[in-house]
Amino acid sequence: MCVGCGRRASKRDLVRYSAVEGVLVPGRVDGRGAYTCMTYACFDRAVKRAAFARRLRTIVAIPESLRQSGGAA
Ligand SMILES: [Zn+2]
Repeated sequence: MCVGCGRRASKRDLVRYSAVEGVLVPGRVDGRGAYTCMTYACFDRAVKRAAFARRLRTIVAIPESLRQSGGAA
C-alpha cells in the first residue's frame, strides 16, 4: 500500500523505502519498508504527512536528492 495516497497496488508497482541509520533510502534493504506509488505526488505527500516515519516507526531524514528525484529512483 502506498503511504502517500493509500492506494493498494502490487509491490511491483510501488517504490520501496527503508530507514538506514535515520535516513530514507530507496530500494531493497533489510528491515521495515514503506512503499509509495512511482509518482512525485505520492512521495511528496508521504513526506509532508510524515508517513514514512510513521510506517517505519523511526525518525527519518529525507535526503535532498530524493526530494528532487521525487521517489522515481
Ligand atoms: Zn500513491
